[in-house]
Amino acid sequence: MKCPKCGMENEQRSVCKDCGQFLYSTTRKIRYKPTPKEKRERFRKNTRYVVTKSLIAILILLGLVLLSFLLAVGMQRLFGFTV
Ligand SMILES: [Zn+2]
Repeated sequence: MKCPKCGMENEQRSVCKDCGQFLYSTTRKIRYKPTPKEKRERFRKNTRYVVTKSLIAILILLGLVLLSFLLAVGMQRLFGFTV
């Protein structure tokens, strides 16, 4: 493999023997593309995260609505008027 920095020929090395340039990581970064399976997996993870977050938000909202409803009903029963 030829070093992209100085052009030195290196055989099966991760670091250039002449200038110390990383060979393996730089080429892997350029060549790396997620496979469709990996993409789907990442998408599924993201969706699950979003769904969990919105579910918690909905539960909190529902709890607040229920609490205010119970409070209103309680007030109505106690004092005979709506809040
Ligand atoms: Zn080099």
